[in-house]
Formats: sequence, structure tokens, C-alpha cells
Amino acid sequence: MNIPIPIDCTEILKRYRPILSNSHKGMLGHALLIGGSYGKIGAMVLASKACLKTGCGLVTTFIPSCGYETLQTAVPEVMVQTDINEKHISRCEFNFAPQAIGIGPGMGQDLGTQKAFHEILKKHFTPLVIDADAINILAKNKKWIELLPSKTILTPHQKELERLIGKWNSETEKMEKTMVLSKQYELIIVMKGSPTLVIDGEKIYENTTGNAALATAGSGDVLTGMITSLLAQSYEPIDAALLGVYLHGLTADIALPVTGYQSFIASDCIAYIGKAYLSLG
Ligand code: AMP
Ligand code: MG
Repeated sequence: MNIPIPIDCTEILKRYRPILSNSHKGMLGHALLIGGSYGKIGAMVLASKACLKTGCGLVTTFIPSCGYETLQTAVPEVMVQTDINEKHISRCEFNFAPQAIGIGPGMGQDLGTQKAFHEILKKHFTPLVIDADAINILAKNKKWIELLPSKTILTPHQKELERLIGKWNSETEKMEKTMVLSKQYELIIVMKGSPTLVIDGEKIYENTTGNAALATAGSGDVLTGMITSLLAQSYEPIDAALLGVYLHGLTADIALPVTGYQSFIASDCIAYIGKAYLSLG
């Protein structure tokens, strides 16, 4: 097994690109986030706000129609397109070409949603981040993994990973199975946890930021928004995954003296993205 490469400041500064003084929003990428369902629109609020706060120029969300007012009110900077279905995603027709798509937060696994997800995979070759219920749907329909464009980023937590690769008997076996999946389909797999590992074929990266304050509802939805934002800003997928994971963890490290572990919530993660960026210089 390869020795993990630490995702530390040195590694990140090789990949991070500060913003240019003549930038305008049209140069900074248009991200599309797809997800949400009745009672879980908050996941999309968090993901889309994190996406903007990570620096992409424009963010559009595609959500079931029940979430329209909530999302427009919670994040007025985000554009909203709605599904014809009120409570879950049932088809996905959007009228622009995003630079990156993040899909899954709060999405649920309704059969209609599964079909819509399949259609997206058949139609779109845009860089993709697959999270949460989009991972669960892939785990139920393993043939669809073949449709993922090379260098698609998957962000499973432990349970989602288990659904994808099956149970493991040891950490070594878990790593081996994940590497096989990554190599076979050329996927980047963000194994969320403590620590988070990023697998890119033979290569293993280990994050050095983050703490138990992140063990809170919505924290993964924020990460999806952040990585999708970086992809939309034209970062290479591996750079987007590493920088996203590093900054996400850093928000919790910077916030900790203020919030403590218990009162840190996913919205705090978003609020500290600016300070995390500033610490990169
Ligand atoms: P999710 O389970 O999808 O909401 O994702 C949780 C996020 O929080 C992932 O990015 C995890 O790596 C991170 N996280 C959760 N618990 C911890 C922990 N104890 N230490 C560091 N990071 C954590
Ligand atoms: Mg999650």
C-alpha cells in the first residue's frame, strides 16, 4: 500500500490559484447543484451557499418546486430552477451549460429521482461531484458507475462507501477495495472521516485539517458545494478535491476557539471559508 501524501499547506499552495485582479464573474465558472427533497431543502441551501463562498462566479440550483421560496430567500445570490415535481427531483432539464455539476445533497432516492439521475449521467460529460443520495443511487444501480466521466469526484462517508464497495474486515481491505473502484473507473474518491483520505488510482492523500466539530448535520453538504465550486473555477478534479477537503477542515480549525466543538454547525463552516482562504496568503 502506498504511503499517503499529506494534504498540508505545502501541498495546497502548489495547487491553489489566487484570484486575478481583473476577474469578472463570467470567468469564475458557473456551477450547478442538483438535489433537495421535501424536508431536506436545507441541504441545498448549505451546498449552494458554500459553493458561492468558495469563489465561483455563478451558482444555479435545481430543486423540487417546494423549495423555491426557501432557497431564494436563504441565498438570494443563487439562481433557482425547479423541477415540475413538488417534492422530489423527477427530471432534470436546465437551460445552460454549467462548468461543473454537484449532485445528491438532500435528494432522496425516489424511483423518479433515480431515473432523472440516470438521464443526467447519460447526457452530461461536465465535471461531476457525486454525494449523499446520488452515491446511494449508484450503489443500488452499479452498472451506472460506467457512465461516470473520468475523474468524477465521489464524496462518500463511511456508510455510503460501504454501500458502494461492500463490507470490509480491516482498514487495509477497505483501502484496497476503494482503490480498485477508483482505478477501474478513473474516479477520485473522497473517503470522508477522521482523517479524510482522497484516493486517485494508486495515489492516496491524507487530510491534515479538520476536527470533531465537523461531526454535525450538513457538514458534508457544505463540502460538496465547495468542491463543485472549485471544479467550476476550472481546477483540475484532483486539485478541487484536495483544496476543498483542506479548506473545509480548516474552517473548523479556525472556528474552534470561538465556537467550541458542540456549538459549531454547518453554517459556521460556511462563515469561516473566507478566513480559511486568507490563511493561505
Ligand atoms: P457528512 O457525513 O456527509 O455530513 O460529512 C461529514 C463531513 O465532516 C466530512 O467532510 C467529514 O470528513 C467531516 N467530519 C465528520 N466528523 C469528523 C471528525 N470527527 N473529524 C474530522 N472531520 C470530521
Ligand atoms: Mg453527507
